[in-house]
Amino acid sequence: MAYKVNILGVQVDSVTMAEAVAQVEDFVRTRAGVIIATANAEMIMRATHDEELKNILNEAALVVPDGDGTVWAARHLGHPMPERVAGYDLAQNLMGVAPQKGYKFYFLGSAPGVAAKAKAKAEALYPGIQIVGVRDGYFRPENEAAVVAAIKEAKPDILLAALGVPKQEKWLARHLAELKVPVAIGVGGTLDVMAGVMKRAPHWMQRVHLEWLFRGMLQPKRIGRLMALPRFVMRVRASKT
Ligand code: UDP
Repeated sequence: MAYKVNILGVQVDSVTMAEAVAQVEDFVRTRAGVIIATANAEMIMRATHDEELKNILNEAALVVPDGDGTVWAARHLGHPMPERVAGYDLAQNLMGVAPQKGYKFYFLGSAPGVAAKAKAKAEALYPGIQIVGVRDGYFRPENEAAVVAAIKEAKPDILLAALGVPKQEKWLARHLAELKVPVAIGVGGTLDVMAGVMKRAPHWMQRVHLEWLFRGMLQPKRIGRLMALPRFVMRVRASKT
């Protein structure tokens, strides 16, 4: 079993990208029916005052360190954390092996039209990939049962849920048993990036750990949310015994 690191009460797996991909492949093979979360500093901060989210994360089969803040925190607390495993990259890696392995994907989330664009992009990038369904993330509560039924009927191996944090985690936890998908991953803005609606930071910025700054610049409404980062650093420092 993987080594877990407790960051402000959230158990994060100490895994490399290759290990994370291998674990997901195992979950698909055994049709495990699990949730995988991608924990950045903002998500962990939210979990400190959102018990429901914290419990979901701590019951998830795999919580990958999505974000430099998460990697820094683990190391600061004296634990090994080999590398950042961004949700976007994990999704791309899984889609990369999908044509050969026959994995079927379902894209749920983001604004109307975005998931379909992400599907077209995936089909261009990974020829032969099977995206068995798409659905935007702005359905009404009365349509929820139909959304669940559509996913169930499409029988994906991997469900990518891009409804934002913590909606995607709570939605998946509530419907997991019914959905009968082997693996469901909360991927935040991944479909937006694939569809070209949102940009990821250039590689050099990712390399020097400034992707958070890029996101803040691109989406000024995120500035408030960015404040979670310094608070996260302070909380982690204070939690070190
Ligand atoms: N989103 C959605 N339904 C909602 C709220 C958000 O599908 O009710 C989508 C939104 O369009 C975006 C994604 O969730 O594509 C992730 O949102 P955000 O950029 O806030 O990401 P986070 O940082 O929360 O993962």
